[in-house]
Amino acid sequence: MAREIDVPALVKGVLGGSRAVLARAITLVESHRPDHRQAAQQLLMELPVTSGSRRVGITGVPGVGKSTFIERLGTRLTGAGHRVAVLAVDPSSTRTKGSILGDKTRMAALAVDENAFIRPSPSAGTLGGVARATRETIVLMEAAGYDVVLVETVGVGQSEVAVAAMVDTFLLLTMARTGDSLQGIKKGILELADVVAVNKADGPHEKEAAAAARELTGALRLVTPAGASWQPKVLACSAQSGTGMAEVWAAVEEHRATLEESGALARRRADQQVQWMWTMVRDQLMDRLHADPQVRAAIPALEGDVRAGGLTPTLGAQEIMNLLGL
Ligand code: GDP
Repeated sequence: MAREIDVPALVKGVLGGSRAVLARAITLVESHRPDHRQAAQQLLMELPVTSGSRRVGITGVPGVGKSTFIERLGTRLTGAGHRVAVLAVDPSSTRTKGSILGDKTRMAALAVDENAFIRPSPSAGTLGGVARATRETIVLMEAAGYDVVLVETVGVGQSEVAVAAMVDTFLLLTMARTGDSLQGIKKGILELADVVAVNKADGPHEKEAAAAARELTGALRLVTPAGASWQPKVLACSAQSGTGMAEVWAAVEEHRATLEESGALARRRADQQVQWMWTMVRDQLMDRLHADPQVRAAIPALEGDVRAGGLTPTLGAQEIMNLLGL
């Protein structure tokens, strides 16, 4: 029989800031076992919800300098008295170019910093599952006293959308590319960004980075709705030398202060919670649907009919709902 999970002991350990207990609690929220899921929810209900933390999403293509940036930023922040958590959302099973997010070896100084806690992405799974575990881990980290939570993603699939929905400020890392810095920025991602940092603004690339920052400032003006309370900021920096890093963090702080002053921060977090509930409903409905033997048996023929034009998508959907008894 499975060992009983001592939720009160986990609550006490997490609130007391025990790294070992925190790691165990995270493993619990990452688990898919029904008894673990239940204990995890109990644990989360027992923990206080804190609002003083900073939740920052960081995205960028492999090689742009995410880990160098997080290492540099994280050590600056712990040096200034913050406690920093680094989490990752990486649902891809084939991790490209050796870019394992949240890999401790990529952040050597932060990995041994006692005021930092690095947690790699839960092992590959559906984006919904990975995002759920990460959201719940944020709550654990904050309860354990981490006041800055950095959530890293490479933006595979829709992962940057999922991360943007769990943070206060979304930071896009990019770099100057020969000629056109807008090339290579995934469509739609600029709309999510509150702050853009053009990294590798050092040595021979410094001028290019400044030009790219100007170009991006113009592009962002076009995608920012009129009357928005925040105009996204674009800054050039070098994660390697540290130049411009203070300014990037100041922009993150400024964005957060703007949200806080207008009351938008509390609203945003509350909206995120509600959105999250509906995301979970959708995910669970889809899981049930795919687990239903009748639906599974009917899907190939239904898809075939829709593909061939013999059935409208709406009627096909209706048949699936009927099979589920909905
Ligand atoms: P990630 O895949 O986005 O995490 O990128 P990494 O942090 O691993 O960086 C990829 C490469 O770019 C490494 O060789 C870094 O040393 C280099 N790099 C990162 N930041 C900078 C920077 O500010 N300037 C320069 N010149 N190189 C950088």
